Amino acid sequence: MAGARSENAMADVSGQAARDQSVDLVLRGATVLTMDGQNSCFDGDIAINEGEIVALGASLPHRGAEEIALAGQVVLPGFGNAHTHECMERGWFEDLGFTEWLNVYAQPKDRAYRPEHQHAAAGLTQLELIRSGFTSFIDMFRFPEVAAGVARASGLRATFAPQLVETPVGVGESLESSLALLESVTRDPSPLIRAWLGPHGLYSCSEETIQATARIARDHNVGLHTHLAESRDEVSIIAERSGLTPTAYLDQLIGMGPDILVAHAVELTPADIELLAERGVAVAHCPTSNLKLGNQIAPVSELLAAGVRVGLGTDSMMSNNILDPFAEMRMAALSAKYRSGDPAALPAQRVLELAIHGSADALQLGGQVGSIELGKRADVIAVDLASPHLWPLLDSAEYGGNLVEHLVYAARASDVTTTIVDGRVLMSERRVRTLDEGEIRLEVAAMARDLARRAGVESFVNQRLPKQRS
Ligand SMILES: [Zn+2]
Repeated sequence: MAGARSENAMADVSGQAARDQSVDLVLRGATVLTMDGQNSCFDGDIAINEGEIVALGASLPHRGAEEIALAGQVVLPGFGNAHTHECMERGWFEDLGFTEWLNVYAQPKDRAYRPEHQHAAAGLTQLELIRSGFTSFIDMFRFPEVAAGVARASGLRATFAPQLVETPVGVGESLESSLALLESVTRDPSPLIRAWLGPHGLYSCSEETIQATARIARDHNVGLHTHLAESRDEVSIIAERSGLTPTAYLDQLIGMGPDILVAHAVELTPADIELLAERGVAVAHCPTSNLKLGNQIAPVSELLAAGVRVGLGTDSMMSNNILDPFAEMRMAALSAKYRSGDPAALPAQRVLELAIHGSADALQLGGQVGSIELGKRADVIAVDLASPHLWPLLDSAEYGGNLVEHLVYAARASDVTTTIVDGRVLMSERRVRTLDEGEIRLEVAAMARDLARRAGVESFVNQRLPKQRS
């Protein structure tokens, strides 16, 4: 079901907006899918000033310092990526089971990372996020201060949860570097950059460290992000250690609450699902990564039925391999239908809500972004509906519309033309303004080779890397 269209009601919902008002930015002539409480949709304009949505209407009188014509496009709130790692090892370690992939390839490679590799990885990841229509994300990886520096340039709304790993030694961040990030973000505050705590998982950190991260996060009033119940191997390891499920064990260690965002939550008992709901924990559902690494499909319909907060994440480009909210929505819908045998499971409208409202809420940004309403921060994207794979578009008044169905089942990251965060235009007409794509491409090519060499996986990887041109 597409958004209910209400042109008349939206004629000028700004009400008292002054005629001929000058604002920073006006988006003109789009179909606007507001994702507000009424799920309303209208054809018209959006006025943005000082990063805030200040007027919506069929034909706004406002004058923008910049105006973007978006006829034939749909404008909707930007997507939130509720779980990713800013790396660059795309296509390196393929077709491997989760435990071998993690222990033999991913973590030893993480040990080889240096700040210069992280700079390239953050540039690549953020470039792809902007191009795909993500406006906010949480990163759990290495050298977060370097990645945060890139985010200050890219303009994305970013949260950094340094990936704290104790076992094996030397492959991740530490309590000290996590604290250093908190301090540097406090010292140089930005409304778009936040620091959280990011213990990698129950099997890679000690009990004491998991408890310390929760204490630090709560002392600083920030969130905590961790992997939870991703694989059957994790269930066995934790059962042996504690006699509990991973979910019950995490709750016993730190007392879970709404400040906790867990990635995956695949291996859950009915009691685990109840516990996640009761504690108000948010879950980042990452169906592509789970399927690709041979893990199971998370019980999303059951989580939602129990009232658990659920957003969508891509996980990293190593295990996905694309950071594409449309592909992730499609995978979430299809995998829920496959798991239950019920084609009505996770319908299109619900999936879009998970990707936008669910992820914004999981990132604790729900009050600021996630809908196109007066007073919300202007994190919005435009999707071009001109390509044949998005034909035909049915008129909503006459036929009920199929816009939401197109976004979930047919659209692609490359259909995104415009990405705006906090009122700043990061991409327009598919041209990224805030990052230098050519420069990042060269940097990634050089740094990827260097990383593969340092990690000792050069021979494994070099056949997959493009030949270097002299
Ligand atoms: Zn992950």
